[in-house]
Amino acid sequence: MSDFLLEISRNASARRFVRALGLPLPLPENLARGAGAWEALPLADRAVVVGASERAELASPLATCLASAGADPFLAPSEALAGAFRAPGETFGRPAHALDALADSRKAHGLVFDASGLERVAELEQLHAFFHPLLGRLARSGRVVVLGRELDASASPERAAVQAALEGFVRSVAKEVGRGGATANLVRVARGAESRLGPVVRFLLSQRSAFVSAQPLVVTARARSVGEPALVRSLDRKIALVTGAARGIGAATARQLAAEGATVLCLDRPGDDALLSQLARAIGGVALLVDLTADDAPARIAEALAAHGGVDVVVHNAGITRDKTLARMSVEQWRVAVDVNLGAVVRATAALEPQLRDGGRIVCLSSVAGLAGNVGQSNYAASKAGIVGFVRAEAERLADRGVTVNAIAPGFIETRLTAAIPVTIREAGRRLSALAQGGQPDDVAQAITFLATPGAQGITGRTLRVCGGALIGA
Ligand code: NAD
Repeated sequence: MSDFLLEISRNASARRFVRALGLPLPLPENLARGAGAWEALPLADRAVVVGASERAELASPLATCLASAGADPFLAPSEALAGAFRAPGETFGRPAHALDALADSRKAHGLVFDASGLERVAELEQLHAFFHPLLGRLARSGRVVVLGRELDASASPERAAVQAALEGFVRSVAKEVGRGGATANLVRVARGAESRLGPVVRFLLSQRSAFVSAQPLVVTARARSVGEPALVRSLDRKIALVTGAARGIGAATARQLAAEGATVLCLDRPGDDALLSQLARAIGGVALLVDLTADDAPARIAEALAAHGGVDVVVHNAGITRDKTLARMSVEQWRVAVDVNLGAVVRATAALEPQLRDGGRIVCLSSVAGLAGNVGQSNYAASKAGIVGFVRAEAERLADRGVTVNAIAPGFIETRLTAAIPVTIREAGRRLSALAQGGQPDDVAQAITFLATPGAQGITGRTLRVCGGALIGA
């Protein structure tokens, strides 16, 4: 199950040897990753170069985000940028420098461009002007972030075209920088949601987003606000439920939520008692042995949550595959995959809703296969695409209570689910991403945890892929 090319890549002399042989092997980068609880200064002393288009509108929240995260900002020439960075620089003791002051020998951890003001096709060239001289200076495991606008229907067709162009641009840059372990993402901010941008950029620039690439994230004011978000220990005194927590992505998520301060109810099948109890003990959580397909599962979940006085974070992670081409698939194989992956999510959500506190978070697991479709996975893909529709509708229903509902669509992640795939397909799955490797369960856990934090208030009804910029999928 281990990734042979990544092993070679981690060993300096083996890496040199393969390079010297000139073999056409893509040696994936050993990604820098965050671990443990979120630090107060995730960007401490990291050089972040910032540029802005004419009429850029997001400099102010961006400046506060960077200074408060401890970054060392370097500004491309712009009066507006310099003005926006002055006060936050003084408040947090992180004064911005002119780009010229970035020593030639110093790599940039982040390149951030505020493209929110772009309106004309000819102005897209400002992307070239900013990134062209800087991409060669991006550090390994570095970050590219472009900021744009989420427009309403009243926008001029040309502005709509220009803002949409940002997505193709960022997805391409993600593919170009991926071999160096770097990522590129786009954040589109709706009018009135500017104050919700900071935590999103903080996540994308941090090492917590190692396997999130080529993604557009949309920040809106849709879910009602529930106060100023805490950025560290942000889940203190919160109750979380994680289904399928005995192993893989679920276990990693339970650990990460606990590291941020949550008390985690870890749910899995009765057969996984030993693994589950061990995990629950290790993270100060509670084991909940429930088969989600059982008739009494929704009632038992609601009862367990009521005993803890309610729930703040729900992660519907349990999932199964029953792969067969449709012509060969039995109705039992169809039924059980759709029931665990989608039916159980719908039933459990309805049953636990009275226990869900205002400002709560629901995160469901979809899959890139659900978005793209896959041979032998018509049942799985139907259930995982169903999740996309479910979170969109639930998000609307619960927005007035400040609850957000989102999905995460993992690409190829190294778990027992993918270890069961035939070796050649598994190898192709790993390499078919901009980062040329599979993700780790913890990469998905980090993204789920981000969506579970108060700082993710601006993101709701969406499906975020954690796929390393997979070449397949929507
Ligand atoms: P896994 O098989 O390692 O873990 C899934 C867990 O869900 C298991 O502990 C299992 O016991 C539990 N579960 C299954 N049916 C259950 C039931 N009826 N009641 C209670 N618990 C049940 O899988 P994983 O790779 O960690 O996947 C987690 C989620 O991520 C799944 O929804 C999966 O579809 C999704 N996903 C995974 C990948 C990947 O590459 N690994 C890719 C895309 C999506």
